[in-house]
Amino acid sequence: MANNFARMLSSKRNVRILSLIGAGSLTAGFLLNRERVTAGAQARRVYPASAEYPDLRKHNNCMASHLTPAIYAKLVDKTTPNGYSLDQAIQTGVDNPGHPFIKTVGMVAGDEESYEVFADLLDPVIKERHNGYDPQIMTHPTDLDSSKLTSGNFDERYVLSSRVRTGRSIRGLSLPPACTRAERREVERVVVDALAGLKGDLAGTYYSLTHMTDQEQQQLIDDHFLFDKPVSPLLTCSGMARDWPDARGIWHNNTKTFLIWINEEDHTRVISMEKGGNMKRVFDRFCTGLKEVERLIQEKGWEFMWNERLGYILTCPSNLGTGLRAGVHVNLPKLSKDPRFAKILDNLRLQKRGTGGVDTAAVGSTFDISNLDRLGQSEVQLVQTVVDGVNYLIDCEKKLEKGQDIKIPPNIISTHH
Ligand code: ADP
Ligand code: MG
Repeated sequence: MANNFARMLSSKRNVRILSLIGAGSLTAGFLLNRERVTAGAQARRVYPASAEYPDLRKHNNCMASHLTPAIYAKLVDKTTPNGYSLDQAIQTGVDNPGHPFIKTVGMVAGDEESYEVFADLLDPVIKERHNGYDPQIMTHPTDLDSSKLTSGNFDERYVLSSRVRTGRSIRGLSLPPACTRAERREVERVVVDALAGLKGDLAGTYYSLTHMTDQEQQQLIDDHFLFDKPVSPLLTCSGMARDWPDARGIWHNNTKTFLIWINEEDHTRVISMEKGGNMKRVFDRFCTGLKEVERLIQEKGWEFMWNERLGYILTCPSNLGTGLRAGVHVNLPKLSKDPRFAKILDNLRLQKRGTGGVDTAAVGSTFDISNLDRLGQSEVQLVQTVVDGVNYLIDCEKKLEKGQDIKIPPNIISTHH
């Protein structure tokens, strides 16, 4: 008998046959379990969705505001074709109830399909984060004609540096929260390969994190060119920091005015920046460079994730649409101490960050001031919002210097929707 058991256990086919014909018999059950253990499959208890629902009582991110038990129950067993689940998508928002400086979204996409499969949750989250934009009925405009921008030169007594960035994802490859090592390396290969085609002022070199020294990396971070080390819990809790620093790096031109981050929060982040207040020139370079990058990627047979409802598809729903964050490092010693500062920023649809990045507090009275919205308005419109808004802030600062009064401007949302 013992011999028979051993023989049967060693044969997968026998066990399957046994389990088919002997359903309900003790022998078959035993054999089936042994087989499952040998095969490494997990015998996992399944609990109802209500028992799995996360405790969100102390949370204030957008995901937490919209994830009802009913929506959770509806979506919890769904996965994208790559196997990405709702629980994976919301983990970063479950683990990070709030952020000290900004209201976060609290969830990420693992692939392009996440936005369809989890739309019951993502659509209301997108609507809240993007100022009422309804992905069910609205379409997103793209406009990279930088000649339309007016008065893009800031007073350099206040503005220290100007920057415009976006992200782009390569269609067909999972996004950083879900990609495999091979997919991540494929992103790096495809993008670096394409960037080799940039010419003239845009021509540059790729520096992988794996090959640079710790000192070189720290210098690039300190100079504001490179993303931070994966210290942000928003990043680590979403799975984006797995295998760090494998396949991460930065490509930049010789003058470090056009830069491309690879495999941080997005497949790519495309950045144009320089010292001083010439936002016009920064946006010109951004548009020219970005169009050239897209052309080169397409030449290699790849394309960016995009659709007309959501615009460019990125990892964080906050970056959908244009993915554009145009910002300046600006010194506002008087205005930043004025109690009206927050309301003024709000009404101008501007966001403030510390100058060390999204996870840093402001040092002194210099801030990173950028557009709050990304979706539903074009690149040109959003950069114009920043130009007009920052000029307004500088005007306020000058008035306060002279002891004059300042006004809270009307909310510009009403003019957009
Ligand atoms: P992003 O939205 O591009 O991810 P982060 O807030 O994470 O921005 O900051 C990334 C890096 O870019 C940081 O080092 C930050 O100091 C730098 N940075 C952002 N805006 C500017 C700017 N206007 N001038 C110079 N550096 C900037
Ligand atoms: Mg960032």
